[in-house]
Amino acid sequence: MENIKQTKSDVFDLLSWYHKTGRTLPWRSYWPLLTPAYHVFLSEFMLQQTGVKTVIPYFEYFLERWPTIQLLADAPVDDVTSAWAGLGYYARARNMHKSAQIISNAGGVFPQSIAELTKLPGIGPYTAGAITAFAFDAPSVVIDGNIERIVARYFYIKTSLPALKSELPSFYEKMIPEKCRSDFPQALMDLGNEICTPSSPTCGRCPLSTGCKSAKKANPALLPIKPVKTNKIIRKGQIFVIRKKEKNNDKFLVYRRNTHGLLGGLLAFPSQGWDDKEQNYNENWRPCNLNWTALKPKIKHVFSHFKTEVQVFLADTEETDKIFIKHKFQNFQGQEKEMFENHRWVTEDELHLPKLMQKALKLVKNYN
Ligand code: SF4
Repeated sequence: MENIKQTKSDVFDLLSWYHKTGRTLPWRSYWPLLTPAYHVFLSEFMLQQTGVKTVIPYFEYFLERWPTIQLLADAPVDDVTSAWAGLGYYARARNMHKSAQIISNAGGVFPQSIAELTKLPGIGPYTAGAITAFAFDAPSVVIDGNIERIVARYFYIKTSLPALKSELPSFYEKMIPEKCRSDFPQALMDLGNEICTPSSPTCGRCPLSTGCKSAKKANPALLPIKPVKTNKIIRKGQIFVIRKKEKNNDKFLVYRRNTHGLLGGLLAFPSQGWDDKEQNYNENWRPCNLNWTALKPKIKHVFSHFKTEVQVFLADTEETDKIFIKHKFQNFQGQEKEMFENHRWVTEDELHLPKLMQKALKLVKNYN
């Protein structure tokens, strides 16, 4: 049985602590002032995968360049993604721009319900909760990593992640205050940042400590319980480095990958297998008929949901002209055809490769 009265009193203390010590952030207002929905929208898109310090100058730049959602919606998407350069995960910028266009076309007024907001590209329950709470003072559930940790500890919930996630909203709702609802999640975020940190919570300084069930336990940092690590699947594959040796500056054959799929739109060496879930590839296939050397050791790389183990092959050639390459690739179809059509020869200085391909290049350079 939860002690609701104690929880309310703890939340009151939390808000008092926050009003004295809360961070000043360019997208933050303190109750009774509310942050404009457009400012929450911009900042939350940027903060989805990026830390506060990095986001601040981008947020300020975007707001200066596109002060309203209509101006952002009218901007060419390439301008928006260029201004986003350095924040990474470009799909966020494209989704933000698409959402801005939808809102702008509907008159520029932000939807105020979670259901409407989550229909927009790139807006999930967390971002929708943040927009409705920070901009409209709604009693929304806003649970990020910091808040997840605090709520699990405060109520001493021993369910492990990820199952914990579905239990937290009902506990969070017990804490939402009647006033200062826009400040409440931001106060929890600051608490998670400064006091209830992942590995060393300082309960003695915490405004929630009176009612916090973990504060009386030997080690509050044990919650939330992390998921049991499962071994990631290992995908095997091959990378083919074709090099034209030159006196001062070797050239390498690369091509631009299809924009859909892994490493989409990036320059890469021809390869196969590692990006194929089914592992349905022919180990004897080579992109063209040259003298191939298999380099040792195989390279390993970890993606978010799988590992790879890749054999790198190297072949040197004296020829780089299109007719030669066309002749070599002429029998191939599908991906190989795409490799031919998008291929180019570049020096190492011009190579901006994703990590997996960088590892292949390093192996080649160590070989000779
Ligand atoms: S009392 Fe300790 S465990 Fe509980 S919320 Fe505060 S810092 Fe976290």
